[in-house]
Amino acid sequence: MPLVSMRQLLDEAAKGGYGVGAFNVNDMEQIQAIMMAAKQTKSPVIVQASRGARAFAEDLYLFKLIQAAAELNPDIPIAMHQDHGNSFETCRSAIALGYTSVMMDGSLKEDGKTPSTFDENVDVTRRVVDYAHERGVTVEGEIGVLGGVEDGHGAGGSGLEHITDPDQAVEFAERTGVDALAIAIGTSHGAYKFNKKPDGSVLKMDVLIAIHKRLPYTHLVMHGSSSVPKELQDIVNKYGGSLKPTWGVPVEEIQLGIRNGVRKVNVDTDNRLAITGAIRKVFAETPEKFDPRDYMKPAREAMAKVVSERMTEFGQAGHAGDYTPIPISKMAEDYKSGKLDTRPSVAAH
Ligand SMILES: [Zn+2]
Repeated sequence: MPLVSMRQLLDEAAKGGYGVGAFNVNDMEQIQAIMMAAKQTKSPVIVQASRGARAFAEDLYLFKLIQAAAELNPDIPIAMHQDHGNSFETCRSAIALGYTSVMMDGSLKEDGKTPSTFDENVDVTRRVVDYAHERGVTVEGEIGVLGGVEDGHGAGGSGLEHITDPDQAVEFAERTGVDALAIAIGTSHGAYKFNKKPDGSVLKMDVLIAIHKRLPYTHLVMHGSSSVPKELQDIVNKYGGSLKPTWGVPVEEIQLGIRNGVRKVNVDTDNRLAITGAIRKVFAETPEKFDPRDYMKPAREAMAKVVSERMTEFGQAGHAGDYTPIPISKMAEDYKSGKLDTRPSVAAH
C-alpha cells in the first residue's frame, strides 16, 4: 500500500471514534517493531520522525525504510509524518522526500526553544498549510506550548506555563486551516512528565474537553503522551539503569481524550524505555554476548509489545482494512475544491 494521507487516517478515526498512535522512529528496528505490532493488531498507524531522527538516520535511509515498511505491509495504512517541524523549510523538505503529513510547530520560534507570538504562529502555519495542501499533504499545528525538551526541541518547563486558551485554539484553527491541532494541557516531552500520578491540577483534561466542544470537527493531538509505566522503569533500573521515579499520562486519561476529539496520540518515551530495558537485561545477564542481534532482537520485541498494547488501548486495532487509501494527488484536488473543508462529525460518545 502506498503511504496514506494522515488526514484520511484521522478522518476515518473520527468516524470510528478511535485514536491512532503516532510512534517515533530513528532506525530500522523501531520501524520493524511498529509494523510487527500493526500487523498483529491490524491497525492503521502513524510513523513519525523528528528533526533529530532525520539527522541521526539521514533522510534517505529513514524514508526508504518507511517505503519498505509500506511495501512489505500492503494491508496496513501508514502515514509518514514530520514531528515538530520548526520552520517552513523543514516541512518543505519533508514533503519533498514524500512524507504525507507535517507538523508545523509554530508555537516556538525557529530555534525550537523560544515561545513565539500568536500572530507569528498563525503566519508560518498558514504558509505551510497552503504549500502542503496544494500537494495533498496533511498539516498539524500547535497552539499553546508543551513542557519539557525532546531531541533538543522544546521550551522546557513543567507544561503548565503555556496551557492552550480555548478561544485562541478556535481562532488559530480558523485562520490557519490546519487538519490537526496539538494542544498544551500540561503534558511534557521526555520521561519526567509528572512527579506523582497526575490529577486535574496538572493534567488539564477539562481544557481539552472545552476545546473539543468549540472545535468538534478539528482532530486534536496529544503530545507527550507516553504512560511511562512503572514496570518499564523497573526493568531499566533492575539491570543497572538509574531512572528517578516518574509518572506519565495514564492510559485512561488518553482514552478520555479520545472520547473528546483526540485522534492522534504521540508516544515515544515508552518505546525508548522498552528498548533500553531489554538491551540492559541482555548485557547484565549474558555479559559474554557481543553480537548486536542478540540484544537488538529482544529490544525490537519489547518495543513491539508496548506498541501493540497502545494500539489496542487507543482503539485503532482492527481498523486497518476499513478503507482504501485516497491517492495524495486526489487529496490535493479535494483540498483545492473545498471538499475537505467539511470534516466528518465526531462519533457519539
Ligand atoms: Zn511533541
